[in-house]
Order: sequence, then structure tokens, then C-alpha cells
Amino acid sequence: MSFDRVTYYVPRCPWCGTRATGPDGQEPRLESEVLGEELRAHMEARGWQIAGGEWNGRARVRTPLNLRCARCAAATAVRTAKFERDLARPAVRTVDMSARLGDGWSLVQRDGDEERRLWLVRHGERTRGQVARYVNRRGGLSGWQAWAYDGGELMLHLDAVSAALWREKSSFLWRTRDLAAWGVAVRPKHSQTPPAWARSGASARA
Ligand SMILES: [Zn+2]
Repeated sequence: MSFDRVTYYVPRCPWCGTRATGPDGQEPRLESEVLGEELRAHMEARGWQIAGGEWNGRARVRTPLNLRCARCAAATAVRTAKFERDLARPAVRTVDMSARLGDGWSLVQRDGDEERRLWLVRHGERTRGQVARYVNRRGGLSGWQAWAYDGGELMLHLDAVSAALWREKSSFLWRTRDLAAWGVAVRPKHSQTPPAWARSGASARA
């Protein structure tokens, strides 16, 4: 006698482990991470946030499934709103960056950002990321960190391009504030050449 070992997929929230239930009240056992229409509608009606998990066009490729149960979705929405309120705090200092980054770009410091050596990188009213001077363990100042912002509650760290490194062989820090801001605005490839103003040596480190 032999047994076929059947593996199946039960959709669940990767954040808290909550398992989905189907219209019949049972845990759905799926062959893959592709949710059927009925199950998808049922879960959405119960507050699940669902992205992906579909066959992608004619190709037998499925889009990655991204799930959040109702409770985690609500918690995320609260955190996101808080994060966005914080980003929108009034500026106490603004530097016009249009000459270096193009129309509408600016650097903004809110109350308290100066001590953190932090600047938001804005395009119009939209925050596109932030840059901050790095302070080493001995309290010394070194290069600049850059993060990109695409909405939500998190910023993504951006590595410095090879021609803008603070220190050789480490892409963790950018050489100057404005280069870091350029990184946020352009999201360059590692090999991309920085603009001419950055090569002139006139670019302030402060
Ligand atoms: Zn959850």
C-alpha cells in the first residue's frame, strides 16, 4: 500500500498567522497560492486585504500573493496614518533644490529634525524620501544615508552609487547631503554617473 503525499496551501495572514476560511466556514485547501474568485470575494467581504495571487495573463506564472487579515490591515492603516501625519508636520527650514534636482524639489526640516540631522526630500507637497547625516559610535559625523518613500509606514534604504561613496567599498553612505537627495529623486543604478554639480567639488558636505 502506498500513500500519495498531498500538499496544499491554506491562505493565511503572514503577519499574525490567522487562517482564512471559505464560504463553507472551512479552511480552503488550495493547490497553489492562486485564490479562486469566490474565495477571494468572500475573504475581501470579511476585511482581508488581498493583492496578487492570480494567473498572470496567458503565461502560467502566478503573481505573488500578498495577504493581510482584517485586523492586521486595520493596524497597518493606523500606523500609516500616523507616519503620514508625522511627515506632514510643518517645515521650519526649506532648501530649494530645483537648480540641482529639477522643478519642484526641495529639502525640508521639521521641528526636531535639525538635531537628528535629517531632511525630508520633497517634490511639490509629496515626500519622496529622506536623507540624514550618519553619526558614528564615537559621535563623529560621517556620510549621508538616503531612504526612498513610496507611501505606507516604511522607508527603503538606498545604497550610494559607486561614484558617490562616502567611503571606498561601502555603499552604505553617500558623500554629501545633496548627492543623497539626488539618489532619492533619481533612484539611480549603482553605476550611474552623478550630475555635473556633484563632480565640481562645490557640493557641500553639510
Ligand atoms: Zn493578520
